[in-house]
Amino acid sequence: MHTKTLRSLISILTVATTMLFVGCASDLSGGRAPVAIVIHGGAGTILKSNMTPERETAYREKLSEALQTGHAVLQNGGSSLDAVVASIQVMEDSPLFNAGIGAVFTSEETNELDSSIMDGSTRNAGSVAGVKTIKSPIAAARLVMESSPHVMMVGRGAETFARENGLEMVENSYFRTERRLRQLKRAQQNESRASVLPYGSEVGDAPISPGADHFGTVGAVALDRVGNIAAGTSTGGMTNKRFGRVGDAPIIGAGTYADNATCGISATGHGEYFIRGVIAHDVAARMAYAGETLRQAAETVIMETLGEMGGTGGLIALDREGNIAMPFNTEGMYRGYIDSAGNEVILIYGEREE
Ligand code: ASP
Repeated sequence: MHTKTLRSLISILTVATTMLFVGCASDLSGGRAPVAIVIHGGAGTILKSNMTPERETAYREKLSEALQTGHAVLQNGGSSLDAVVASIQVMEDSPLFNAGIGAVFTSEETNELDSSIMDGSTRNAGSVAGVKTIKSPIAAARLVMESSPHVMMVGRGAETFARENGLEMVENSYFRTERRLRQLKRAQQNESRASVLPYGSEVGDAPISPGADHFGTVGAVALDRVGNIAAGTSTGGMTNKRFGRVGDAPIIGAGTYADNATCGISATGHGEYFIRGVIAHDVAARMAYAGETLRQAAETVIMETLGEMGGTGGLIALDREGNIAMPFNTEGMYRGYIDSAGNEVILIYGEREE
């Protein structure tokens, strides 16, 4: 090879290597680092045989809208906290899900909402429980985190705080839907069998046997351009719960957790088990202490820890590399993600049904 050719080859290689290095460095320093988002819309006995095509399309479209809303925030350089709130608000505003409008009823025919959010970069967190007049409970959770010295506020105190800070307030009847009311009535008819039906045994619109259908809590976990993870969850709780009952969704470490060092988690399922198993934190702990991967930790916690306790439900998980896991031990879970390569995936049923 001529010396001249060799020289130009070397200089081309040098330029290419430099470009590659700068590219990688800018990825790590934030400029073009990958973003990702994962959401859920509740787990339970969700079977294709119980679903009309129209209803399935409605769920898929709303899940996609929630994903894309959050993803657009991330792509425009917004924070993972902003993305989580934006995604969750799309689902809170839809009667399809058990959060915001369309929340399930207490045994008193009221709607009492729970929500929480956590910032993985600082491990700051905020939550509200048993609130009846805050239009967007996830916004209230964030307000508690960012504008108060507290982590958790409940009932009237949380509502007063939200109102004083300018959040939109509504009548409790704003959350009321006929579909959820029918579910409550059916649950109450079944009360002789169990006062609170087993998780996932929504008594819905269709011919329903106990154990059919789903619940519909919502959650999101996002990774932003600077590598920060945030997670949030919002719910009306469980149908026919006693008034005053609080589930796992507003409990940091049970229904929601985020730490940049490990992962972000949002859970859905029979809340009492998620509280007792400290499920969301357990996934992070397995990664931190046992060196497990996100997938290993998430699957073990749902399939073994939760399952062995007799609990049902699932979770979504995302780590700093953009790895995603969505395990559940029910028949289905409304779930989806846009990964770091930009691929959008929406799933509803167990693997074999997809
Ligand atoms: N985890 C929620 C609760 O127990 C319910 C759900 O996820 O559907 O309040």
